[in-house]
This record gives sequence, C-alpha cells and structure tokens, in this order.
Amino acid sequence: MFANYHTHTFRCHHAKGEDREFVEAAIASGFKVLGFADHCPWVYPYAYVSDCRMEPREVEGYFRSLTALRKEYADDIKIYIGFEAEYIPELIDAQDKLLSGYPTDYMILGQHSVGAEPYHPYTGVPDDSEAALAAYVDSCIAGMETGRYAYLAHPDLFNFTGSRKVYDREFTRLCRYLKEHGQPVEINLLGVRDGRNYTSEHFLGIARKVGCSAIIGCDAHTPSMLTDREPIEKCIALAEKFGLPLVERLEGLD
Ligand SMILES: [Zn+2]
Ligand SMILES: [Zn+2]
Repeated sequence: MFANYHTHTFRCHHAKGEDREFVEAAIASGFKVLGFADHCPWVYPYAYVSDCRMEPREVEGYFRSLTALRKEYADDIKIYIGFEAEYIPELIDAQDKLLSGYPTDYMILGQHSVGAEPYHPYTGVPDDSEAALAAYVDSCIAGMETGRYAYLAHPDLFNFTGSRKVYDREFTRLCRYLKEHGQPVEINLLGVRDGRNYTSEHFLGIARKVGCSAIIGCDAHTPSMLTDREPIEKCIALAEKFGLPLVERLEGLD
C-alpha cells in the first residue's frame, strides 16, 4: 500500500501505541503517506466526556507531537494530520472553533452515530430498523455533501439486521451517491481483520454493481495494523475480487 489515511492514536482511549511507533511501523511497511485521523473531539453543550475520542484539551498535544514527527521523518514518509469525525450539524460550529488555528490537513467522515453522544446509539450495533438505516445513509450523504470530508470511512458500518431488500436499496443509494461524486468506498482493514459486519462482501458486491472505486483504510488502532501483511493482503484481494479500482492517494491535501 502506498498510503493510509485512517490512523488513530492513544488519545481516543481505545488505540494503543506511541505516535512515533505508528510512524515507524508505516515506514517499515513501505507506506509513503501516513494520515492520522484520530477520533475528533466534540465540544458538547452539556457535561459529558466521550470515552471513544480525544478530549478538546488534547488537540494541542496531537498537533505538537505529529508536527514534530512529520519534520523528523520527512525524508521517509509524508505525514498528514487530520481527524475522523461524525457529521453532527448542530455541533459543527463549536468543533470548528476548537480546531481553528490548527493546520488540519483533512477530515474523514465516520458516522459512528447519527447524532451526538450519548443520546444516539453506536451505528455498529445490530439494528433491524429500516428508518434508522435510512437515517444513517441520509446523514452520510448530508455529511459528504458539505465537502468537509475527504472520504467516507467504513460506509457499511451500520449493522442492519433487517431484510436484504432494504439493505440493498439503502446501500445502493449510498454507493450511487459516492460514485456520482467521485468518492471511493472504504475497505476497512480493522473490520475485515476482525470479521466485523464491515466491510462485508455483500456490501462490496453492491459497490461493484454501482461501479465504485475503493480505498483501503487501515483504521489502525495499533502500530502492528500497519505492518501485519495478512489483513493488508486480504483487503487488496477483496478489491480485486469485486473489481473495485483502488484509489492509492487522496488528491488535494497539499
Ligand atoms: Zn476507533
Ligand atoms: Zn471509525
């Protein structure tokens, strides 16, 4: 793999390893581009601390650490500093304010919930509600429509357990949107490695029918996820199996 734009850090409370270890793992693995996209903080208008994302006060250290590593390893790898965030319109102004003054290179959209925590459930939990699935797809499309996000992470994150017909209709709608807007579907290495509901072969079958391209996102929560060959090969094999041309790098980040 040439590039990976989906890398987390310990700041999100569920990833492990020092920032430097991720960089060195990526270099050892032959990556030329490494994008950090840790779970972006939200500034909640109520007393709440999320246990799955960095806190607002950690943004400073995130940029300080990665900016220093970017410089130190400039001859070996190109490092980008970004975030993975949900699209939650009512909280975006506060998020922008928090990040203003920081040189964010890009964001990717990861719609882990369709609204703010803790009032909206994680979309990866099994759910047979047709309305909830449609709301998820709507929110992904609305998020991508803003132009705020470089790509949509784990598009089939929503763990729909209802009818195949409804699944196909909704995810065809999402794939069509992505295709029409020149956006790849992410093959999510973490999900593939762990046998999660995403990235499913059924979903990739829909992406093939629609004619999508794909991008492999390691969704690395440990440095070894950048070096373990088997899951990487598995993701590449999936792209080949479903005839999805792989996007090697994101344009327009410099
Ligand atoms: Zn995570
Ligand atoms: Zn995610």
